[in-house]
Amino acid sequence: MRRILITGGAGFIGSHLCERLLKEGNEVICLDNYFTGSKSNIVHLLDNPYFELIRHDVTHPYYVEVDEIYNLACPASPVHYQYNPIKTIKTSVMGAINMLGLAKRIKARILQASTSEVYGDPLEHPQPESYWGNVNPIGVRSCYDEGKRCAESLFLNYHRQNNVDIKIVRIFNTYGPRMHPNDGRVVSNFIVQALKGESITIFGDGSQTRSFQYVDDLLEGMIRMMKSDKSFTGPVNLGNPNEFSMIQLANEIIDITGSKSTIKYLPLPEDDPTQRQPDISLAGRELNNWKPVIQLREGLEKTVAYFDKLLLMES
Ligand code: NAD
Ligand code: UDP
Ligand code: UDP
Repeated sequence: MRRILITGGAGFIGSHLCERLLKEGNEVICLDNYFTGSKSNIVHLLDNPYFELIRHDVTHPYYVEVDEIYNLACPASPVHYQYNPIKTIKTSVMGAINMLGLAKRIKARILQASTSEVYGDPLEHPQPESYWGNVNPIGVRSCYDEGKRCAESLFLNYHRQNNVDIKIVRIFNTYGPRMHPNDGRVVSNFIVQALKGESITIFGDGSQTRSFQYVDDLLEGMIRMMKSDKSFTGPVNLGNPNEFSMIQLANEIIDITGSKSTIKYLPLPEDDPTQRQPDISLAGRELNNWKPVIQLREGLEKTVAYFDKLLLMES
């Protein structure tokens, strides 16, 4: 039995990770300040004696003894990370320093949840890990993009300088049950709008693309990465290479929900990337042929079922 710390464990991805690692027979400590996460995401785990919940902010030091750390604490949706951009930078940078200091002291392996946003508005397509990216360092998304880039640098430097056992995954757009209904990300927005019969808000002309990964596929990749050989630090891309425009996504969701919603076009937010698709050949080679197995239609159906139930409970 390993003891595992998950920062941001009450969030969308973190709560699924807590659940899965408990199921695999580990002891899990979930640390969160509930900025975007919620106790309701992990309430069903509270009866498990091997699960512990800690209210803490990663920008402050934290002392504990564990075998592994998954560092997920950071708001992920543009609406939330731009709400208090200075705090977002502090969370990424000071959070990384504190968790790396912890990993160094207790000799734990630590995995960083980085992001495809390190590629910015990419000029290379699809994006391999060797691509350095095209990020506006002073734009409205920079608090997140540069915070995550700095965290990657910190991880590699703690590895080189202090021999900390690190792993970095670059996560591409991930969706599934327990996304926050109001968090502003495209999949949750479109599904909630479709279920409520409200207009579906497409930003720009809807031709921009993203590659959407179902949360279970991501978890499998993250856990394989955590278990991989010490010499493989990453960064490694984890995402589903099937790429869709926002118009295609809206139509798919209208089709699944049978909604009568119409499409409303709104201005494109500043620095919104025009395309994004992971090159996952490195993950395939290093992580036992890892590749996503749940495709968009199936993943959306599961997510729609979750939001359908949630909205019924709220009404
Ligand atoms: P989320 O907002 O649901 O989860 C983030 C969690 O971190 C929340 O529970 C939040 O309360 C917590 N948190 C935020 N600031 C904190 C702080 N200072 N101290 C302690 N806890 C704090 O988002 P998510 O989608 O589950 O994302 C989890 C991680 O994965 C993030 O680091 C995010 O950057 C990364 N990621 C997610 C995606 C995606 O598409 N979902 C893509 C790329 C990277
Ligand atoms: N830290 C922590 N928990 C620990 C050990 C360290 O939160 O168990 C924090 C510590 O407060 C410090 C940061 O991690 O601010 C970086 O630690 P490191 O040892 O690298 O640097 P130093 O303490 O020398 O500044
Ligand atoms: N988007 C949209 N309507 C919405 C929310 C988002 O058209 O209601 C677009 C957004 O402009 C972006 C894409 O969907 O081009 C993905 O946005 P999201 O915030 O989910 O993720 P990110 O931009 O961080 O990849």
